[in-house]
Amino acid sequence: MSLFQFTSRRLVSQAYCGLKPPSSKKQKICLEMARPNSNMADFREVFAKAKHIAIITGAGVSAESGVPTFRGTGGYWRKWQAQELATPEAFARNSSRVWEFYHYRRELMLSKQPNPAHIAIAECEARLSKQGRSVVVITQNIDELHRKAGTKHLLEIHGSLFKTRCTSCGNVAENYKSPICPALAGKGAPDPEIEDAKIPVENLPRCEEQGCNGLLRPHVVWFGETLNSDILTEVENELEICDLCLVVGTSSVVYPAAMFAPQVSARGVPVAEFNMQATPATNRFRFHFPGPCGTTLPPALARHKTELIS
Ligand SMILES: [Zn+2]
Repeated sequence: MSLFQFTSRRLVSQAYCGLKPPSSKKQKICLEMARPNSNMADFREVFAKAKHIAIITGAGVSAESGVPTFRGTGGYWRKWQAQELATPEAFARNSSRVWEFYHYRRELMLSKQPNPAHIAIAECEARLSKQGRSVVVITQNIDELHRKAGTKHLLEIHGSLFKTRCTSCGNVAENYKSPICPALAGKGAPDPEIEDAKIPVENLPRCEEQGCNGLLRPHVVWFGETLNSDILTEVENELEICDLCLVVGTSSVVYPAAMFAPQVSARGVPVAEFNMQATPATNRFRFHFPGPCGTTLPPALARHKTELIS
């Protein structure tokens, strides 16, 4: 059994702990969390004592920086949505089109900046590390805005727009070139009437490892692909030791938070949601702060009066 299957099954069983018959300690924990608290002073008391903070972030954090997801109403690149282009089948069928899509997204990111939520997380990590406390960011976002904001301990479970992987030798490399290759210069415009550039595969990004020259692909997890097991192991380890968990810019019924947060909550560890609205899952967590996370997060993570070193 793969780690991913193991993880999913364990988490699914814990996600429904509130529906199980009474008798266990788990049940008691779920009942205690039946009323999510939105009192910032109460959260700040818990925050002040936390030694290992895990922060799970999703698309909502990036959306506040103007990063499109290419999903949902109006979320198109040309005639397609992300789920039609971000697949191994689409890449096999039309590598040029998929590379145009990713080239567009890479170039777009050059004009995007971290917002106050990214910055608050990065500042909190830097400050707490001087106090012997840790912050880890577990994100599904591939745009590197956490890194740009200064976050050091970052687990990108979906990979990065700025990494490539060779389809021949498997080498993974950082790549910030703009354009990523000469043939993609000026290509990738998102308007629906734009024709495919039909770039010959030999002119698409190629591996620079000696003697390889294999076709590169974006080092991101596509629809239908499994998560990297090494990163999942790291995530599991972090969730085991965390004593406070924040879910930011994603609802706790939506992946990835739905995979991770219930596991933490079932251990009796406080979970705090920062997202636009409450969901049915919100009742399983200790805290909920509705609204844009660029507004709600900075005061939550600011220096606490009990912190001796800032
Ligand atoms: Zn290679």
